[in-house]
Amino acid sequence: MNCDDVKNDLYFYIKNDIDLPTKKGIEEHIEKCSVCKELLNEFSKTLRVVDKCYVKVPSKNWDYFAEKTMDKIHVKRIYSFLRPTIGFMACVLIFAFSYRYYQLQKLQTITYVPSTEETVSYLVDFDIPELNE
Ligand SMILES: [Zn+2]
Repeated sequence: MNCDDVKNDLYFYIKNDIDLPTKKGIEEHIEKCSVCKELLNEFSKTLRVVDKCYVKVPSKNWDYFAEKTMDKIHVKRIYSFLRPTIGFMACVLIFAFSYRYYQLQKLQTITYVPSTEETVSYLVDFDIPELNE
C-alpha cells in the first residue's frame, strides 16, 4: 500500500466503513509513513468538526425555530387574552372620564346658577322639624 492508496481510503478508514485487510494495510502504512499519519490526524480532526456541525447545526436551528414559534404562539395567546381585558379597561376609562365630566358639569351648574334668593328659598322649602317647632 502506498500513500495514494491510503489517501483514497482514509475517509472510509476514519468512518470505519472499510474491509479488514484494507484497514490493516492502512494501519501498517501509517506506522511507517509520518506524512500519512499526520494526514490521518488532520483528516480525522476535520471530520469530527464537520460531523459535529453537520449533526448539531440543523438540530440547533430546528430547536431555535421551534422555540421562536412557540414564543410567538405564546405571545399571541397573551395578546388574545389581553384584548378583551384592554377593551373592558378602555370602556371603564371612558365611563370614568365621562362620569367625571358629568360630575364637573353638575358641580358648575350648582355653583354658578343659583342666586342667593334661590338658594335661601330652596333651603326654606326643606321641612326641618327642629326649626319648625
Ligand atoms: Zn504515506
